[in-house]
Amino acid sequence: RAPRIAVVGRPNVGKSTLFNRLAGKKLAIVDDTPGVTRDVREAKSKLRGHDMTLLDTAGFENARGDKLEARMRAGTEGAVMDADIVLFVYDARAGITALDRIFAEFVRKSGKPTVLVANKVESSAADVGITEGYSLGMGDPIEVSAEHNIGIVDLDDAIELAL
Ligand code: GDP
Ligand code: MG
Repeated sequence: RAPRIAVVGRPNVGKSTLFNRLAGKKLAIVDDTPGVTRDVREAKSKLRGHDMTLLDTAGFENARGDKLEARMRAGTEGAVMDADIVLFVYDARAGITALDRIFAEFVRKSGKPTVLVANKVESSAADVGITEGYSLGMGDPIEVSAEHNIGIVDLDDAIELAL
């Protein structure tokens, strides 16, 4: 099967925007409301001639049980376990939050090849957050702006290296 690339991270960091950017189409719903992506979405895509399947996820919420947030989390964790490569996205303007750290730990423990993505870097408000990303233990953050189409070539390089 084509390598599966899961886009994960807490709600509102720009996962769906990045997924659409990488898929080259507007497939996922982008919204300011955290958690608007409820199910895992798939898109077939090509990266420099390599077939791959992109997965957009609902995002990590810190909840267990049968609430919506818990289902989102379970779906996202399932997508990580099913992935060949994980893109761990955070909002560099917001910096690294407690929730980012909790889920970075989950992704690290999964042992999956991971690319750390610092999103929303189009303004200097992201500078501190970019630096904070180094503390996640996932390597150097790749700096992108999914919305403004910045850094996507560097991200493609990092994905290609991980393939
Ligand atoms: P998700 O919940 O992680 O899927 O996040 P979305 O893709 O739905 O985006 C959440 C919000 O962040 C939306 O308002 C997007 O327009 C915005 N957003 C996404 N990428 C960027 C970016 O690169 N820069 C800025 N400033 N906003 C972004
Ligand atoms: Mg989304």
